[in-house]
Amino acid sequence: MSEQLIFLDGRFVKKEDAVISVYDHGFLYGDGVFEGIRSYSGNVFRLDEHLSRLYDSAKSIMLTIPYTKEEMTNIVVETLRQNDLRDGYIRLVVSRGAGNLGLDPRNCAKASVVVIAEPLSIYPKELYETGLEIVTVATRRNRSDVLSPMVKSLNYLNNILVKIEANLAGAPEALMLNDQGYVAEGSADNIFIVKDNKLYTPPGHVGALVGITRNAIIDLARVKGYEVSESVFTRHDVYTADEVFLTGTAAEVIAVSKVDGRVIGDGNPGPITKELLVDFRELTVTDGVKVFDQTLHVS
Ligand code: PMP
Repeated sequence: MSEQLIFLDGRFVKKEDAVISVYDHGFLYGDGVFEGIRSYSGNVFRLDEHLSRLYDSAKSIMLTIPYTKEEMTNIVVETLRQNDLRDGYIRLVVSRGAGNLGLDPRNCAKASVVVIAEPLSIYPKELYETGLEIVTVATRRNRSDVLSPMVKSLNYLNNILVKIEANLAGAPEALMLNDQGYVAEGSADNIFIVKDNKLYTPPGHVGALVGITRNAIIDLARVKGYEVSESVFTRHDVYTADEVFLTGTAAEVIAVSKVDGRVIGDGNPGPITKELLVDFRELTVTDGVKVFDQTLHVS
């Protein structure tokens, strides 16, 4: 990539010029929403779904995004074009904007919109062949009746605490339980378990973001004839599952080989996990918005 250009409030600017006010409430209070999106060979995977989640998150916190969904589609596409990037990760952030030191959002005149696109690789390729060894951490998921997990907000401290615990344990990702001790999700991924050819993943209200990758996997698994259930389960169910895998925009579909020292299945990525990863990768290049074969304008 030559010179990286970032979309910032209506303009494309160089990385070093992509700065926002210290009075921005995204910075002061984590007041804002965001999305992590992927482009595969010039196809922005399920962009509509990502934007629906973004606009729903914004509505929930009464944040007005100063662009229509159509304009936002064009902005995302144009950011990839400006950077001549076909395969990359896109971070879309909408913060409440600059206000004063009080937390009242009425003092923030206009939301700030930032779109960053850059190459991405989260886990080394080998980990997709061996699977991840993860641990359960003490940090619990925010209660879903306090802060809805449907809101993908800039308040990620909960997840950061999980990541810190994972780091301390030397694990690449960790499992978070909800306040009642049921399995919720990872720090930035959803979890699936497979038992007797049936898939299970926690429903959103248990304390999981309803991930776009999660939804795609549910669709793909059903097309293949597998039964998928969104249900509440415990660590015991995870330990005794035939297969466990995580899903997320950055991680895609990645097997888990060990949880809290318990070997999952025979310790290798299972057949359903592998099958769904192949299906998912096929879907990523077809299902979405094409970057380079349409004329779009950013206003
Ligand atoms: N849970 C959390 C907390 C996340 O941050 C993410 C990443 N966005 C996910 C799950 C996976 O969601 P998606 O498949 O939409 O990336």
